[in-house]
Amino acid sequence: MIKFENVFFKYSNSTKNVLENINLNIKKGSWTSILGENGSGKSTLMKLLYGQHKPTDGKILINGTEYTEEVYDEIRNSIAVVFQNPDNQFVGATVEEDIAFGLENRNIPTELMDSIIEKSLEAVDMLEYRKYEPVSLSGGQKQRVAIASALALNPQILILDEATSMLDPKARKSILQYIKKINKENEITIISITHDAEESIYSDYIEIMNKGKIVFTGNYNMLYAEPDILDKFNLETPFLERVKNELNDQLGSKIFNITEDEGSVVEKICKLI
Ligand code: ADP
Repeated sequence: MIKFENVFFKYSNSTKNVLENINLNIKKGSWTSILGENGSGKSTLMKLLYGQHKPTDGKILINGTEYTEEVYDEIRNSIAVVFQNPDNQFVGATVEEDIAFGLENRNIPTELMDSIIEKSLEAVDMLEYRKYEPVSLSGGQKQRVAIASALALNPQILILDEATSMLDPKARKSILQYIKKINKENEITIISITHDAEESIYSDYIEIMNKGKIVFTGNYNMLYAEPDILDKFNLETPFLERVKNELNDQLGSKIFNITEDEGSVVEKICKLI
């Protein structure tokens, strides 16, 4: 669905390539996490994807169409983005006005708005807050509204730009679970850029960026089968994997393996106790 072919990019005020020979192939309906420490080029990559900058060299194709000026509007309309800071994303005085604002920008007829707003708030369990002022919501609730606003635009691609990094662990987990549901039920392609390897648990594919290059392409199991990769690129191992590794070391056997999720680990720990 999305292809980067030998993409290079440098900012006009610099001589250094920020992206070097990026090749990516993102499948429709998949969730790809792009991991990398700060300064590795993740945001720049996303800016190219949502058309804020053009590659210095190479091609970006979406559904087989090269991303050029002529198709810019059409492609741009198929992408929605949720950013890091929930407070910077609101323009409306209430939750529903905020979603309506995005719909007005896309020239959606007024008579259709109500049902779109209702459906998108329902998807993140925020319907009861439709008349609330965004300032009265918690950080996690604000991000749920930001996701609802994105969903209302009926995107094919949802980009999460460090969308959970300002949330506490509980709110982060809840947001990621809502996104997983949306990803599966609506077949929306998710691209999440993050420095938090914890998020990779939810994704189908993982790309690691370092110094403007893709240095790893694979999935969760492949990544944690080689635990040194995260260290090498200054990324923190997710808590669940740290617990499994520590318990395996302490118990002197590989009781906990890569494919086990949180529930199974808790169950085994209870049995062991
Ligand atoms: P990340 O999102 O992984 O933190 P960025 O894409 O923001 O990485 O940055 C990659 C590199 O590009 C960094 O060296 C950063 O300093 C540089 N950079 C980012 N934005 C600009 C800009 N507007 N002008 C010049 N250099 C930039």
